[in-house]
Amino acid sequence: MKFETLGLNKALLEAIAMTGYTDPTDVQMRAIPEVLAGSDVLVSAQTGSGKTAAFMLPALQLLAEPHKVAPSDKGAGPRVLVLTPTRELAMQVTKATETYGRKMKRVRTVSIVGGMPYPLQNRLLKMGVDILVATPGRLLDQMQSGRVDLSRVQMLVFDEADRMLDMGFKDDIDAVVAKVPADRQTLLFSATLDNNITAMAGNMMKNPVRIDVSGHKTRHENIEQRLLYADDLSHKNRLLDHLLRDTEVQQAIVFTSTKRAADDLALDLIGQGHAAGALHGDMKQGARTRTLENLKRGRLRVLVATDVAARGIDVQGISHVINFDLPRQAEDYVHRIGRTGRAGRSGIAISLANVRENFQVKLIERFTTQMIPVITIDGLEPKQKVFDRKPPGKTFNRKGPPSNNRGSHSNNAGAGNSGGGSGKAAGAWSKEGGDKRSSFSKSSLGKPAFSKSSAPKPGFVGKALPAAAPKGEAPGGWKKASHFAAK
Ligand code: AMP
Repeated sequence: MKFETLGLNKALLEAIAMTGYTDPTDVQMRAIPEVLAGSDVLVSAQTGSGKTAAFMLPALQLLAEPHKVAPSDKGAGPRVLVLTPTRELAMQVTKATETYGRKMKRVRTVSIVGGMPYPLQNRLLKMGVDILVATPGRLLDQMQSGRVDLSRVQMLVFDEADRMLDMGFKDDIDAVVAKVPADRQTLLFSATLDNNITAMAGNMMKNPVRIDVSGHKTRHENIEQRLLYADDLSHKNRLLDHLLRDTEVQQAIVFTSTKRAADDLALDLIGQGHAAGALHGDMKQGARTRTLENLKRGRLRVLVATDVAARGIDVQGISHVINFDLPRQAEDYVHRIGRTGRAGRSGIAISLANVRENFQVKLIERFTTQMIPVITIDGLEPKQKVFDRKPPGKTFNRKGPPSNNRGSHSNNAGAGNSGGGSGKAAGAWSKEGGDKRSSFSKSSLGKPAFSKSSAPKPGFVGKALPAAAPKGEAPGGWKKASHFAAK
């Protein structure tokens, strides 16, 4: 199917062609005609699926028609309101709007997000807005000070609604929705459509068309997932240092479970010679924007981030995602690994876990319905015995692997020293095969570890490194592990 068949106008088709898209993605194919027909839509779609264009293209098309209500003398309120959970996602949506709307006459898009200076926001709001992209808390602030009038909103979009609820925005959302005309069109996009989301949809949507393209069962085929067992924090640090010294790592996002751990780990990595930086919600907006810009320009090779801060990051150079701490929720795992393998490339996602976290691993595997192959690095194998693991979906064997989930690494992640000892480990990656172990012969990640002097220096530019492998071909020549240890 081509974009021309979706019912989009000429200006939008021209902008799409300029952007280089040839075919609509699944979510675009299914959602755009419904939205153009005026239906409310309830869509389960992941970040990376092309969901932004799925709502923004019809939203822009709406602006091509005059509003039935003329702007008041006080200025025109927005006709389209997009709510997002984070500043980063709001910025990304705003940027996409500019891209897709570049052939239209005059579309004023304003983002209202926490952390942005009020005077600037106030000025932007005064100038009139067509599309307002906002995080719920700051929008409510501005509404309460009488600077935002939502009485002209025709289309209300929730982007990553599940995350907004997770972040405790439910009351703010209700307060915002109460001020939007009831005859609006409502589009809700969420990674999953669980009970909370369907209850929310029931309250604020009219007979929504349900579109499910989440497919977390089949997603991320271009991302090689791996599990590395670590005995303790020091072991984790040595594994991480080893992983990051591989030249196949173009750029990496390393996830920690706390903001403090992100800061500490980034400092440790800088101390080891990595071009690293932290990104988390306690940083000022300016610092967050600078860090993201450095990542995009390739000045940062390693970003140490928390879940919320990394949400929505779309940087094509991210070849690896490393879960230094496992995510608290299985769904976050999917969001994390989706930071790599962008725009048709392949990527690698490696999770570091302690055997005591097997229960958490199991939850992730149940959610994705895929087992994560276990690998080891010669010279850095765990001392603790890793038991055979059962495929997801089967009843957990109480007599099998220890399932005590209480001793999570996350509490102490990043604290203490980084271990050192890097560079000693050499040799091939191995895949656990019960009693059998087989080495990957071609793995570049199995090359002798780099010495500190060969580690990338701050200021490194991503372009100088080899590009991520084309689709279907895993960087580093990994073979896809086809099975697990089976008794
Ligand atoms: P999103 O899920 O909206 O965050 O989009 C993920 C990425 O896919 C972004 O880099 C978009 O520019 C890109 N994208 C969106 N639609 C298409 C398309 N039809 N063809 C190719 N890339 C696309």
